[in-house]
Formats: sequence, C-alpha cells, structure tokens
Amino acid sequence: MTTTNIFPNHRSLYRLPWSLPDNPIAWLEPTAACNIYCEGCYRANVKNGHKSLDEVRGELETFSRFRNFDGVSIAGGDPLTHPEVVRIVEMAATMGYKPIVNTNGVALTDPLLRDLKNAGVVGFTFHVDSRQNRPGWKGKNETELNELRLELAERLARVGGISCAFNATVYEDTLAEMPGIVAWARKHIDKVHVVVFIAFRQAAEEATQGMEFFVQGESIDFKKLVYSRPVKGKRLDISSRDLVAEFRKHFPDFSPCAYLNGTEKADSLKWLLTTYLGTKDRVFGYVGPRFMELGQGLYHWKHGRYMAYASPRTLRSGRSIAGLAWPLDSGLREAWGRYLRHGLAYPLRPFPRLYMQSVMIIQPIDVMADGRMNMCDACPDITVHEGELVWSCRLEERKKFGGFARGAPGHEEAVPAESPVAGPHPEEAAPAEV
Ligand code: SF4
Repeated sequence: MTTTNIFPNHRSLYRLPWSLPDNPIAWLEPTAACNIYCEGCYRANVKNGHKSLDEVRGELETFSRFRNFDGVSIAGGDPLTHPEVVRIVEMAATMGYKPIVNTNGVALTDPLLRDLKNAGVVGFTFHVDSRQNRPGWKGKNETELNELRLELAERLARVGGISCAFNATVYEDTLAEMPGIVAWARKHIDKVHVVVFIAFRQAAEEATQGMEFFVQGESIDFKKLVYSRPVKGKRLDISSRDLVAEFRKHFPDFSPCAYLNGTEKADSLKWLLTTYLGTKDRVFGYVGPRFMELGQGLYHWKHGRYMAYASPRTLRSGRSIAGLAWPLDSGLREAWGRYLRHGLAYPLRPFPRLYMQSVMIIQPIDVMADGRMNMCDACPDITVHEGELVWSCRLEERKKFGGFARGAPGHEEAVPAESPVAGPHPEEAAPAEV
C-alpha cells in the first residue's frame, strides 16, 4: 500500500541545514552485543562483540576527522552491555562531545546511571516498543508500555540535568497506537523531551520482489543479511506522512516544521521534526519553520556546530523563548497568544511554566523501482567502519559483502515505486532541537 496523503508538503517546511561533514550527531557503536531481541533490529547480535577502548577512540577520531558534530549517540547492540561504557562516555565527553546513550534500558541500574552522569552523559534515548523480547514486559501493548517509559523518565528526572528521549519502531499493526505515546509524552512534558518514531523496514522478499542486488558488479543474496527476515503480511512502506496523518486524527493541529529530504527524492520526509510548547495539561501551539531556522542558525553561529540535544533547562524555558521570539515566527506567535489568553483567563495560576517537546519521525531507506536507494540526505546516524563513514542502518552489507548493495529491476515483476529494504535502528538517535 502506498500513501496518497501529501501533507505536509516539504516546500512549506524548513530543510534542516545538516550535511555530511556538518551535522549534529555521530553514531558510535562500541558493541554489537545486545541483551534482548527487537523485531526491527538491523544489527546482528554478537555475544561479547565489544570493541576495545582503543578501537572506540580510533572511531571517535575518525568522526572528528570527517564530521563537525555536537553529540555522539553511543549505540550498538546495547551500549550498557559493554563493560567499559562509563569510560566510553567519559572519553566522548573529554573530547568535547555530548555523550548520548541509546539503550533499551534493561541494564540501567541506579548506580550505573549515577556513574554515567558523573562521566558526563548528556542524554538517554530509550528504545521501548511492543516488539521487544523484554523480560517482564512481553505481550504488552504500546499503551501498557507507557508505565515502563514513565519509570525510566522518572529515574532520569531524579538524577536531574539529563535529556530524556524515547523511540519506538512503528509497524503496520502498531501505527494506530503511536498517538497514545505522544499523548503520554505530553502529559510528562516536564520529564520527556523528545519522542522518536521509526518506520519499520526489512529487506524481505515481499519488498524486493523482482529486484536483483549487486555489490561492485557481483550479484548478492540479500537473504544473508539480518534485516531480510520474512515479514509476510506486514506493511513495509509506512511513511512519515502516514504517521503525521495518524497523529492528526488525535491532534488535528499537529504541524511539523522541519525535515531532511531523501538522497534520491527531494520530497521524501526522511527526518521530520515537530516541536510544540505546552504545559502538562495543554499544548499551546507548534513552532514554525522560521523559528527552527533561527534556532539552528544561532546555535551554529555561537558554537560552530549544530545542536544535538537541548538541555532540560533550555526546554523548560519555553516562556522566555516564546516571549522573546514570537515576533519572528507565526507558529510561535499563535502559541504565545494562546498562552497569554490562558494566563489572563486563570488569574489564580496565571502563567504556568512552559515546556518544549519534540516529535521526530524517521522514514529509513526506500528502494525505488529503478533500483536506486533513497537514503536520508546527510545521514545523521552515520557510523565508522574501517576508517570510513557509512550508513549505520546498512552496515551489515559492508561487513558481509564488502560494499553497499545497488538494486536493478530483474526479470520478474518489478517492485513498487518506493519499497523499503533495510531496517531501522533499534536505538535511533534523538534529534537535534532548538
Ligand atoms: S543510518 Fe539509515 S535510517 Fe539512519 S539516518 Fe542514516 S540513512 Fe537514515
């Protein structure tokens, strides 16, 4: 099924200014080991597949050589399974980057959390969704998992000063549950800063039917890759626009402000950012493209790089930000107007603290009918392999075949115009924010 919904139009959004060498994030994988199994995972789970500290340092140096970045997403596998994770966080912080731990949270004990905080951790992105083989939570739906999300968010809040993000892989049969996660996040806008939704992708036969794949001219068998599991009956083409349409059923004014296009299609919304201002009871409005442009530009002008992860302190300063910047952005103007009217209507508790929260939607690789692979332009989650920057969502191709596969229509019936192949990240990076 292919979406016919064209809202939002990319021309009405701000194109995030990120590029291959100048990007808020780098994606470090210190381990290929994980302590649970997630259906949408793109990485082969290698028991004890930990890199040494020297290897990790080498990869950070490679990133520094090629990319100007602000935050390093420490992912995997699950990074908390690495026995030296605290030293890795410390290493990234000492090199001047913001360490963000991308984890399922299973191994996060309170003493480890404190050690990570002391080592300089700036944020966590917790991968929590209903397709994880998570002890104690098997068979729970997305709504029931909000209890676990809250437990994790409260633990970070107790330590304080740590950015808290969640991500979930989106499947055809969980799509309708995603607005419930946003509704939950809004209720906890004081503790939850970002929610990321990643459309499910697999190099399943259903998606690649009729297509042949080649690496350096040699035909390859995609079935050898971890992200080619059979997915009979499951939809593989969920798009960012589908997610926006789902959100708008529940939040009719849900309005994205910024995007990253595809490498092959200008109007693909590969990364789609929505940011709003609100209290725990109410969202007052959505920031517009101009504000996002201003935020990105100012931070780069001041710090020489694009921002990864705004601090919780910045995000609870919505009142000062909106109070100063409302003349510059129509979305902010609307939000500020509603907030003022609300304040005047409730004189006993006139102007409550105003928070900012973001929703990022990620639409990973789409294979086009002529075999081109439509990737995220500027790939924020690029990683290092053998001294080069490579798409982390397709690293297994490099490892197994020595290069990235290219597709070509075969003799059988060709694939649809856009058909997804590779899998999304299990612990996708949270977005940069203003
Ligand atoms: S690793 Fe893949 S899904 Fe992630 S940002 Fe890069 S191209 Fe997109």
